[in-house]
Amino acid sequence: MTDRLTLALTKGRILKETLPLLARAGIEPLEDVHSSRKLVFPTTRDDLQLIIIRGSDVPTYVRHGVAQLGVVGKDILLEHGAEGLYEPLDLGIARCRLMTAGPTGWRGGKARVRVATKFVNIARRHFAARGVHAELIKLYGAMELAPMMDLADLIVDIVDTGNTLRANGMEPLEEIAAISSRLVVNKAAMRSSHRRIQPLVDQLASLVEGG
Ligand code: AMP
Repeated sequence: MTDRLTLALTKGRILKETLPLLARAGIEPLEDVHSSRKLVFPTTRDDLQLIIIRGSDVPTYVRHGVAQLGVVGKDILLEHGAEGLYEPLDLGIARCRLMTAGPTGWRGGKARVRVATKFVNIARRHFAARGVHAELIKLYGAMELAPMMDLADLIVDIVDTGNTLRANGMEPLEEIAAISSRLVVNKAAMRSSHRRIQPLVDQLASLVEGG
């Protein structure tokens, strides 16, 4: 079917919380996405298929319009931008906070701080707005290791319970943004396929509001 809609989902923690919401909307993948190695999944709605990819790739697929819709963390949208996308709905899932964090008892006071993070654009904006000169060090994971190894003074990372920070001798300092997963829609598709996309957005919105 050529006019099938494609919904790009973020794999991992967000996927685990997205699937029950979709199920309540009558959208279920036809096979178990956790045990399958496939990337494309037909669903119980034959006009809608899922692709399951990394969060940082979701805006790219949706921006190019090959997926008309996507589910992605606000952290990704803040870091990589939301050009070409509408963000019509906060799904209220995978909630966490984007924070600065430092070794427990860290007092700061240096003219220049070294900041390790995956979120270099967000961190650059955050420290620039405070007039702090930050040297940004891009990492792809295990940010907590950087202060421990004296690669950095601070980190900018996602915090949920704070257990990961505490387990590594660190504490959260300042909240940069509250994060949750968002429904995103390709702007051109929203116009050309409004008749099919808007009811889906409305249906998900009513499920989110209803709790
Ligand atoms: P916690 O130990 O509960 O503070 O969790 C922190 C780690 O879990 C972070 O380093 C993140 O990588 C990951 N994490 C927690 N919540 C989320 C979320 N909603 N989305 C993506 N990653 C998350």
